[in-house]
Amino acid sequence: MSKKTEEIASLYDQYVMPTYAPAIALKHGAGSKVLDIDGIQYYDLTSGIATLACGHCHPEITAAIEAQLKDFAHASNLYYNPHMATLAQTLARLSGGYKSFFANSGAEANENMVKIARLWGQPTGRYEVITFNKGFHGRTLAMCAATAQEKIQHGFDPLPTGFAYADYNDLESVKAAINEKTVAIMVEPIQGEGGVIEATNEFLQGLADLCKEKNLLLLMDEIQTGMGRTGSMFAWEQTPVKPDMFTLAKALGGGLPLSAVLARPDLADLLKPGMLGTTFGGNPCACAAALAVINVIEKENLLEHTRKVGEQLREGLEALMDTYPQILEVRGRGLLVGMVVEGSAAEIVEECRLGGVLCCTAGAHVVRFLPPLNISEKNLSEALEMIADSFDQLFGE
Ligand SMILES: *Cc1c(COP(=O)(O)O)cnc(C)c1O
Repeated sequence: MSKKTEEIASLYDQYVMPTYAPAIALKHGAGSKVLDIDGIQYYDLTSGIATLACGHCHPEITAAIEAQLKDFAHASNLYYNPHMATLAQTLARLSGGYKSFFANSGAEANENMVKIARLWGQPTGRYEVITFNKGFHGRTLAMCAATAQEKIQHGFDPLPTGFAYADYNDLESVKAAINEKTVAIMVEPIQGEGGVIEATNEFLQGLADLCKEKNLLLLMDEIQTGMGRTGSMFAWEQTPVKPDMFTLAKALGGGLPLSAVLARPDLADLLKPGMLGTTFGGNPCACAAALAVINVIEKENLLEHTRKVGEQLREGLEALMDTYPQILEVRGRGLLVGMVVEGSAAEIVEECRLGGVLCCTAGAHVVRFLPPLNISEKNLSEALEMIADSFDQLFGE
């Protein structure tokens, strides 16, 4: 660790709660590249954990934020927010008529989606939401309860009730979890944090059929998969089903904190003023950024580009499998790609960083790659060569 980084780390040790374990501090980003405070350059294949769909400092997104910031940074939901109106209109166009509620984080959006589901279920006395083992829905108490992972829940008892768990891609386990209290099923189209595991189309169709049969709502958590990450604006567009409600967060605000619940209008219209709320929700700078993000994705054809470079990324990583038996599988969709390894994923992430590429983990044995959607083929192939060098360092003869 450099002296500059050590100084920051020592302040963390003294004053920041020890919940994260960073290794470097960043100074500047541009597109798919970042510089750390010592001037070392990296390819950033984490994109701020899938938040920077258009890369670091896209000029149009920066300009949109700057323009709003110069008018006013925040005003609250006591007053109309023109950017929120236009953003909701744009999301309605993209989703086929859904209405939006804006919040700040993924967990908060999911909480509000569950609240709307409970509101809908109340007349029939139903409130329980089925979620999936290895899923991830956030860190608030209720979303810890919704996240069926021991490592997320451990130590925080008692957790809120109202969730039941089933196995992903296993329809029978979902049937077994349904009871007279069940109101909804909440599912990620691809389990991101859980290890980049895709739901099969048959499974999703089965869930939709079950929801119809039992009068349940189908809720999708698109916090990681949304905003073009998988090669369509929303991952559900590539499946045979359409959720009754879904959430967006990570990439929505172009790097600013912004999340949204999108709901069928009849569900949205169960709400009345005062029922949901949050001080910063739909902050005008964040909404201006989101409009710019969508505009850039559409104007620069980033959905098509994502599918193309996503294939390049998967093929590049798969090519390493010939040399390194430590790699067991490469999977994912678009630019949400996981590499399953035999040993420690964290060790590979660290070696890649030393070799100039930032990636992250998704559980103990999956290395996750989340490049910006606008990464060029040339930059991606350079990053892939650097990753190959890191594998050589770690596992070469
Ligand atoms: C990141 C993530 C969340 C939580 O979002 P926060 O903004 O950290 O609260 C929820 N669900 C999924 C699928 C995510 O990837």
